[in-house]
Amino acid sequence: MYVKTRLLSLGVCWLVAGMCQVAAAAEQFTARPLADNIQLITGPSGNTLAAVDTDGVILIEGVPAKLAGDYLAFVTKLTGTDKIKAVVNTHWHDESVGLNARLAPKGVTIIAHANTRQWLAATIRKRGEEILHRPTPKAQLPNKTFRDKLSVPFRGASIELGYTFQAHTDGDIYAYFPQQNVLFTGPTVRTDTWSAVDESSNGYIGGFVDSYDQLARIVNDKTVIVPLSGAVISKVEFDEQKAMYAQLTKEMVALLRKSRSAEEVVVANPAVGLKPQWGDPAAFLDQGFRSFYGNLRDARHLGGAMP
Ligand SMILES: [Zn+2]
Repeated sequence: MYVKTRLLSLGVCWLVAGMCQVAAAAEQFTARPLADNIQLITGPSGNTLAAVDTDGVILIEGVPAKLAGDYLAFVTKLTGTDKIKAVVNTHWHDESVGLNARLAPKGVTIIAHANTRQWLAATIRKRGEEILHRPTPKAQLPNKTFRDKLSVPFRGASIELGYTFQAHTDGDIYAYFPQQNVLFTGPTVRTDTWSAVDESSNGYIGGFVDSYDQLARIVNDKTVIVPLSGAVISKVEFDEQKAMYAQLTKEMVALLRKSRSAEEVVVANPAVGLKPQWGDPAAFLDQGFRSFYGNLRDARHLGGAMP
């Protein structure tokens, strides 16, 4: 059925070029309201929020650069305006900053943590070798940064942005709408796959666990929790996921204290059987375990200094 629809829309593309983009956008993205003037948009890279203010749209999170055109067309259709006022980047990865090159020339405010701006302006290498990122042109860098918290006005209330320290990267932020009780978690929470830390930009599994504790202080029984990707969850599911990652981290610390290598941890697989629907936990385990190496003085997470 899907194949048939896909072929049909490709046929339309051949005939009417202008309709092609609309058909493709409609296939890739879906939306539903979470509260008045707040739309959840779900696409191939995960979730974003469109907060429709009286004088333009505030986007919480971006999409990869290759999806930017389709995504912005979808937002225009959904909200009835092409006026984007601001975009929030929850961290430096393409999934989060891929709209910036298109929005920056239009004078859109690009909001991110100060570390995210620093990473984007730098050359980032994986373990000192493979280049993961080359410097973003200055005109496309986030132009409104903060370190701890930032309050963004929204329809007489606010969107509260906060820093979750050293977790997926060392520039992760969340966005909370207190009046609507909607939380966009940022990159540490995904509900459809394992969320790995990025050791190339100081991601750390200990901080990852801390970020869940920090978000838990915001969440209550009625909070609508929007992960970076996967289904929206409630406090019950959030708490379950938080406990699972805390327990896994403890088990990884135990393996570190036994001088196991990252390869051995992946083979031992302490995550076996936990979330089969999420796929292979190897990247989560490998990156998470390697992130201990730069944090061996972290006595709080490692249970005392390493021998
Ligand atoms: Zn990421």
